[in-house]
Amino acid sequence: MTGKRHGPSFRRELKFIIECTTCGGTGIFSGVFHQMDCPHCLGPGWLCGHTLKPLAASDIVPVLNSRLRDALAEIAKARQLLGADSAGPGPERHYQENNRRGAGGTNYTGD
Ligand SMILES: [Zn+2]
Repeated sequence: MTGKRHGPSFRRELKFIIECTTCGGTGIFSGVFHQMDCPHCLGPGWLCGHTLKPLAASDIVPVLNSRLRDALAEIAKARQLLGADSAGPGPERHYQENNRRGAGGTNYTGD
């Protein structure tokens, strides 16, 4: 008997998740008097894209993590294209020295 065992894969596959349509991805269900966890996704605002069932946070977080990292990289790239100055004064700022003129008084050669 050869027990072919499938070990856990080294690479974790990211789940296919979709925004919960019941709460619009907020995870909050607004009742008449108060807000509570969305009864459909149970709070996270995300569902399994295949089964449309709620997922565990340990399944959702890696997906959001990778999306967040992608988004931050995009933002950083966009900032670079716009020029770093829009993000505030950088360390290498050009100072325009308009100091060519000394405190030159006119020379009176009065006789
Ligand atoms: Zn929901």
